[in-house]
Amino acid sequence: MQIKVVPLGAGQDVGKSCILVTIGGKNIMMDCGMHPGYNDHRRFPDFRYISREGNFKGLIDLVIISHFHLDHCGSLPYFTEVLGYDGPLYATHPTKAIMPILLEDYRKISVDRRGVEQKDFFTSEQIKQCMLKVTPCSLEETITIEPDFEIRPYYAGHVLGACMFYIRVGQQTLLYTGDYNMTPDRHLGAACCDKLRPDLMITESTYATTIRESKRWRERDLLDSVTQTVRAGGKVLIPVFALGRAQELCLLLDAHWERTGLDAPIYFSAGLTEKANWYYKLYISWTNQKIKDTFVKRNVFDFQHIRPFDRVLIDEPGPMVLFATPGMLSGGLSMEVFKKWAPSEHNLVIMPGYCVPGTIGHKVLSNGGKPQIIQLPADEGGGQLHVRCKIRYMSFSAHADAKGIMTLIKQVEPANVMLVHGERQKMEFLKERIKKEFGLPCYDPANGATAYITTHHKVPVQLSAALVGKRRRAEGADSVLGAPWGQRQLGPSNLQPLLGVVCVKDASNIKVLDPAEAALFLNVPQCHLSIRHRLPLADPLAPPLGAAADELAASVECALQYHGLAVQRSLVVGLFRHTISRSL
Ligand SMILES: [Zn+2]
Repeated sequence: MQIKVVPLGAGQDVGKSCILVTIGGKNIMMDCGMHPGYNDHRRFPDFRYISREGNFKGLIDLVIISHFHLDHCGSLPYFTEVLGYDGPLYATHPTKAIMPILLEDYRKISVDRRGVEQKDFFTSEQIKQCMLKVTPCSLEETITIEPDFEIRPYYAGHVLGACMFYIRVGQQTLLYTGDYNMTPDRHLGAACCDKLRPDLMITESTYATTIRESKRWRERDLLDSVTQTVRAGGKVLIPVFALGRAQELCLLLDAHWERTGLDAPIYFSAGLTEKANWYYKLYISWTNQKIKDTFVKRNVFDFQHIRPFDRVLIDEPGPMVLFATPGMLSGGLSMEVFKKWAPSEHNLVIMPGYCVPGTIGHKVLSNGGKPQIIQLPADEGGGQLHVRCKIRYMSFSAHADAKGIMTLIKQVEPANVMLVHGERQKMEFLKERIKKEFGLPCYDPANGATAYITTHHKVPVQLSAALVGKRRRAEGADSVLGAPWGQRQLGPSNLQPLLGVVCVKDASNIKVLDPAEAALFLNVPQCHLSIRHRLPLADPLAPPLGAAADELAASVECALQYHGLAVQRSLVVGLFRHTISRSL
């Protein structure tokens, strides 16, 4: 038996996560993301792999979305509304609620501002129609898609509503982690999963080779850098995505401003703060325990020192801190502000998360944050930009680092591991480490490459108590230790076979029964069988032949008794007869 996996995106790459899995005969698409590094046809996964004719009905049995980040859900309306997938589609409640806001934001930037042709994208109405098809699910709820085909979401930390999906089809099992965080932060808890022992665990590996310093140290570093810049009259730009790290860093800065009495204004892209607060209030049960506890007294997302931003403030003189969307400087307001603020060496840009190759964020970080001249893409107006401001990368991404990934593998105990959502070389390193430390087969297929994972078919068999009792009695009788049979443990050391009748109703109902029980189970009558042996003897009373007849009778009896059959012997001259009282 095999599980087949083909990444259409996120194979040896970060972006447009879309993993196709064939498990137990079902085709499942795990995430349906877009690639933030591309603005052409490469932004979406290559769905032609599934069907060149574009007919997806009946080809995919299930789509699951792990969380609302666009690199995990950004192609979904295209897949359902433009390409026509209309099968089962699952995401958690917060993911279903927040996804359309980010999708609409993405649509606006792509179609309205960057001039991507509408025919190659989806409309606002299609986003709405797509969301109607999403069935929301709750944590650790087992959802039966079809008989013998179920899924169960587990808490993944990372962002509000993020989850891992456990999938079982018949005998085969899989855990898809999506993005996850193994350490709790200011507003979310750590990922949490049972010891599922799946056949395959597909895990993200964004930070495959990174062991991050302590969170406290990173927070201190960020606060010091921000404080120094604003005290010297500079501006701080923090490009973020609307929900997620933004709230984490707002909590950090708001508390710092409260403590230190700093008075430089902190702004957040207008409109998003209120929306974000509303969702955090609505889904407070998905945040961490501390926030849940204090929520009764005060909603910590009602920030005291953070105000909505207005575009006219871009050219305002004086210090300020601005959280602007999107993250990675991949367009929008954050890019607009960056172009204005980057030429001044008094300013600071903090990249608080991973930047995908192809984005301006990745470009400005790639020379270690030193002053440079960058070429702007045509959709950002073209021309050159002198970047003289300080650029700092401080990892506040809520992804598991190498230690976290290893911890989850240890916790889940999979039979095979597959790495996705990472950079090829880093994945290669982690792959070798997993093989060495856990002795597990580990895979990292590239986009479009197929990985086959062999699974062992486990057949659960129920043993009848009568049969086990018989074996125990046999063991007890053989025992030289003299332990009463009822106290003896059954173990593989005893080579005596357990003889019974295998009765199969279906794959999930296999029993090994005592012959009498089997007759009842199968509803067949028991028969009595008589066997007659005739031995032509010249002189039946001659001792050698009499002994031979006796020996033969004894061995037949022994064999029959071994099979649990009672035997009666009667020796008539020249003839002995066995009457078998029980048989099938
Ligand atoms: Zn994510």
